[in-house]
Amino acid sequence: MKVKLSNYEGLTEAHQEKVLARCKIEPNGCWVWQGGVTSRGYGNVSIRVEGEKRARTLPVHRVVWTVTRGPTPLELDHLCRNRRCCNPAHLEAVTSAENTRRGESFAGVNGRKTHCKAGHEFTEENTWRSPTTGRRKCRICQKARRAKRYREIEQPRAKAAKAKKKETT
Ligand SMILES: [Zn+2]
Ligand SMILES: [Zn+2]
Repeated sequence: MKVKLSNYEGLTEAHQEKVLARCKIEPNGCWVWQGGVTSRGYGNVSIRVEGEKRARTLPVHRVVWTVTRGPTPLELDHLCRNRRCCNPAHLEAVTSAENTRRGESFAGVNGRKTHCKAGHEFTEENTWRSPTTGRRKCRICQKARRAKRYREIEQPRAKAAKAKKKETT
């Protein structure tokens, strides 16, 4: 996303305070915006700059960044992975290409999921990793699939074979 730097001209500490007043500080240090969010999950705030008629709608993390660190044309990557967080210490200014690369990497996409489709947590013991693709599989689900296969296919087959053996003797 291209950053329109003119949108960030004239921001003051008062604007930052407006944002921080609506943030909840979490134990992990995230400043989590409690107001509205964009379709992509970023916090959104209406900012009115003195002398201007129209208010600007701006992403809250960038408002805080601009006031504390200064304007940047770079993208701001949420290191904490919470898009509503606006703590500048949790943000890193990166190029668009770098941001995309991070978002699509294994850690970015698969690593973000904490539970399998059935809702089992991907803990260290419960996670099986494919050595070729690096994809994770849930061990509880794998075990359940094996048990189901045994019950539905292998066990009846073994029983049938046994019964057949009896018939012939
Ligand atoms: Zn954060
Ligand atoms: Zn599972």
